[in-house]
Amino acid sequence: MMKSGQLLSSWQIKINNTQNRKELEKIRIKILGRKGLVNQLLAKITQQPPSKKKEFGRQINKIKKGLFTAIKKQESKLQQESKSQGQKFDPTIPTLKPPLGKKHPLSQTIEEIADIFEKIGFIRVKYPEITTDWYCFGGVNVPPDHPSRDDQETFFLENGLVLSTHTTSGILQEIERVKKPPIRMLHIAKCYRRQIDIAHTPMFHQFEGWLVDKNVSVAHLKWTLDYFAREFFGIKRVTRLRPHHFRYTEPSFEVDITCGACLGNGCRFCKEGWVELGGAGMAHPTVLKNAGLDPKIYSALAFGWGVERVFAIRTGIADIRPLFKNNLDFLNQF
Ligand SMILES: [Zn+2]
Repeated sequence: MMKSGQLLSSWQIKINNTQNRKELEKIRIKILGRKGLVNQLLAKITQQPPSKKKEFGRQINKIKKGLFTAIKKQESKLQQESKSQGQKFDPTIPTLKPPLGKKHPLSQTIEEIADIFEKIGFIRVKYPEITTDWYCFGGVNVPPDHPSRDDQETFFLENGLVLSTHTTSGILQEIERVKKPPIRMLHIAKCYRRQIDIAHTPMFHQFEGWLVDKNVSVAHLKWTLDYFAREFFGIKRVTRLRPHHFRYTEPSFEVDITCGACLGNGCRFCKEGWVELGGAGMAHPTVLKNAGLDPKIYSALAFGWGVERVFAIRTGIADIRPLFKNNLDFLNQF
């Protein structure tokens, strides 16, 4: 005959060791379930010699009652425990924070650039990304078949329209809108060119400033560029102008900024101490004429640069393409 006392106590230990009601329920099924311990024992009654059957049944009943009681006891014990744990619950403890979204680094940069120029009176405007050949090229002194059009690999649409290749396409529209200087335009918009490499994407952003008024000079241009360099890149940064050629400006300049690593002394990142920012200049008389202004009365300073470019210079990223790949591990760095 089985050792009923030993069996009973070994299962009682298992019952008492359960930590929660789920564990207890598993044990209950093992004992009292259809294929559980008690039913298995009952099935063995028939195998017992007739003289021992009665005693065997009595033992099974004893085990069954004992385990049933133990389960009930453990059940109320676990219930008490979870109640007292409930009292420890502190509703003032902060919950886990859900992940917060934020603006794309280029949107942040555009807002920052707009803030910087709005402080000195530039007004942010936006003109259509689909525009005419006249606003994009002809009107800003880039005649048909001029070789400089080849530099801006243009997306041509039907009806002679184009996807704007640069924010310069906004200046004639702005002068037509305001009509009479002074004009302080900050045009920030998407631009499109058929090119892709580490520094170019088919869609990118430019910001372009024009100040049209009487007696605007290169000195005003230089001051404005230095102001932007200080505000955007840091207090110790300055710009320099190198002669260049653009169709919409005369004179035209390439603008450099002092290298952020060596502040102009020269280092292995920049070689000469300067990093190229982009183009600037004084409005070409033909552009002003095309807008109906007399270039003998009015002059204008102009600059237009890539948002991705200034972002890349400031952050040190070598490749701008990941900015458009929606990889949050990359974007969340900024
Ligand atoms: Zn350097």
